[in-house]
Amino acid sequence: MRLRNIPRAGEVLSECKEVVKNYKDQKNAWNTVFGNDHPIHIEIGMGKGQFLLSLAAHNPQINYIGVERYSSVLLRAVEKFQLLREEPAGQPSNLRFLCMDARELPEVFGPGEVEKIYLNFSDPWPKARHARRRLTSEAFLSLYARILPAGGTIEFKTDNRSLFDFSVEEVSRSSLFTLTGQTFDLHRDPQMSRDNIMTEYEEKFSAAGNPICKLTARRDL
Ligand code: SAH
Repeated sequence: MRLRNIPRAGEVLSECKEVVKNYKDQKNAWNTVFGNDHPIHIEIGMGKGQFLLSLAAHNPQINYIGVERYSSVLLRAVEKFQLLREEPAGQPSNLRFLCMDARELPEVFGPGEVEKIYLNFSDPWPKARHARRRLTSEAFLSLYARILPAGGTIEFKTDNRSLFDFSVEEVSRSSLFTLTGQTFDLHRDPQMSRDNIMTEYEEKFSAAGNPICKLTARRDL
């Protein structure tokens, strides 16, 4: 997702205290940012934020961090978050945002600091020469392994069958992860779709008739 540059993005994001600016300084100390020791779950490529805003509201015992590399996109998520001020339930206190590239993850989180990683509708990068840029490639899996503890998990959803098949293969080949679940039609899979929260892309693509694929993986010892 890439929106046209939005001039106010810089100002809105810099004034929002939930957007953590000096994020590399928080490595190994994210519990102090949240003021508690609750587990940390992150979404990489959070887009406009619907999924994480909903998770944060439903699960106050988990701390959530949304990672998005484009400020124009993150702005949409932050504006949604700010509108919650007007709602009776208010803004969840267990949610932070980072404007950064996933490649920086090991500089931002220490070993085992993140319990779970969500990847939703990641960019497919269909050309073979761009395979390493896919967020489920071996290169990214080894970055994730550096911040997840043994037993930590990854959940990935997409409607793009070639990206999904590639991802299942990368996880299956990896010595760092075990594939723990997969479905080619999440919305018709009663077990895997339990408590499913739809992302913006998931709503759009499933309304267009595309089945949604999902895999789960566990970080090995
Ligand atoms: N998760 C949302 C958005 C999916 S679009 C949804 O399901 O609706 C994929 C998003 O990932 C885009 O907003 C894109 O900017 C972001 N993204 C892609 N590569 C990234 C990277 N390397 N680091 C951080 N964000 C990335």
